[in-house]
Amino acid sequence: MSYTAHDIFQRSAAPVTVDESKCIADKGCTVCVDVCPLDLLAIDVSKGKAYMKFDECWYCMPCEQDCPTGAVKVDIPYLLR
Ligand code: SF4
Ligand code: SF4
Repeated sequence: MSYTAHDIFQRSAAPVTVDESKCIADKGCTVCVDVCPLDLLAIDVSKGKAYMKFDECWYCMPCEQDCPTGAVKVDIPYLLR
């Protein structure tokens, strides 16, 4: 598979993803929502899982670091690493 400029500069997926099999928002956890300084994350009440509501991430990382179950994955863009 080769990458084009389109792949690098356009994101098809949100930078922050939540592994719903690990997320325990249905048990009352809201850690990632609480620590995000930009309020980008939210709990989908119908599913009982966290998700990225607004795609404006600063890649500051506490959501990934503080999630008690390791469900949050922040995908830092290649150009910022
Ligand atoms: S911190 Fe982790 S377990 Fe808690 S709501 Fe967020 S993703 Fe789910
Ligand atoms: S990396 Fe920072 S800005 Fe991005 S979702 Fe997590 S806490 Fe919010």
